[in-house]
Amino acid sequence: MAQENNDKIRLGISSCLLGNQVRYNGGHQRDPYLTDTLSRFFDFVPVCPEVECGLPVPREAMRLVGDPEAPRLVTVTSRIDLSEQMNRWARRRVRELEDEEICGFIFKSKSPSSGMERVKVYDHNNVPRAVGVGLFARIFKEHFPLLPTEEEGRLHDMGLRENFIESVFVYRRWRALLAAPSPGKLVAFHSEHKMLLRAHSEKLYRQLGKIVAEAGSQDLPTLLERYQAPLMAAMRLKPTVKKHLNVLLHIVGHFKKLLSSDEKKELLELIERYGEQHLPLIVPITLINHYVRKYKEPYLQRQYYLHPHPLELKLRNHA
Ligand code: SF4
Repeated sequence: MAQENNDKIRLGISSCLLGNQVRYNGGHQRDPYLTDTLSRFFDFVPVCPEVECGLPVPREAMRLVGDPEAPRLVTVTSRIDLSEQMNRWARRRVRELEDEEICGFIFKSKSPSSGMERVKVYDHNNVPRAVGVGLFARIFKEHFPLLPTEEEGRLHDMGLRENFIESVFVYRRWRALLAAPSPGKLVAFHSEHKMLLRAHSEKLYRQLGKIVAEAGSQDLPTLLERYQAPLMAAMRLKPTVKKHLNVLLHIVGHFKKLLSSDEKKELLELIERYGEQHLPLIVPITLINHYVRKYKEPYLQRQYYLHPHPLELKLRNHA
């Protein structure tokens, strides 16, 4: 497996989530999971669209109004339309963020500027519907369509949290490949992510395999371009217990000749108990990793599925 870069990964983040007092009322929205746990593994690049586009703290509250596909950002009482000011700044800011080398972004939910989805949009009768996207979040997602994004509230769901962080690590490795690409490195990337991709989407894994099969005979920049969208699309799909079971049994297949009958029996029992959701995924994975080390199985040693993110984040510890 390629040497992992141990530098902290950079993530963009809505500034108020770090405890910065930038909200319209002078407060913050500090999220302890982000500031106390994730900060040990990631460097944050804070962004507050409303302050950075020139608005003061405190300021009048604002909301989205009009067409949910192209809403206006308007102050609640004085009805000042801030859309142009915000959009102009946002288009410039996303270009600046290209230099920050971020591998994901954590947005503050429900904000008319930063909310990623289900932001209230008010119609002309002042009736809200939670169908909008914050103005900055919309421009950000159009500019960085491949970048993993998530909202702070959804990160309290263990499955969504694991999916987001796994995607961030995959994105970082993909960017490292793009920095010095070769057909061989693309083949190795695909091979090392085989189990991980299959846990997300068997269909997209196969589609990606067909693209990689052309490495060496087709133009490399075109192949990389074709590979990255389905790669990140696969990562957005949540693994299920059933998909994990398929991968785990596939892994057992690699051990068939190496494991003693007792070892194989014990591993299959743990996998079965995971399938019944009596054990978290980390239990069979830990035993597999033990056997991978014991038998030095070269193919499995290279699989990111067996160590997709730091163990200390405890992302696979839930049943
Ligand atoms: S939600 Fe966004 S715009 Fe509002 S205070 Fe937080 S970072 Fe600033």
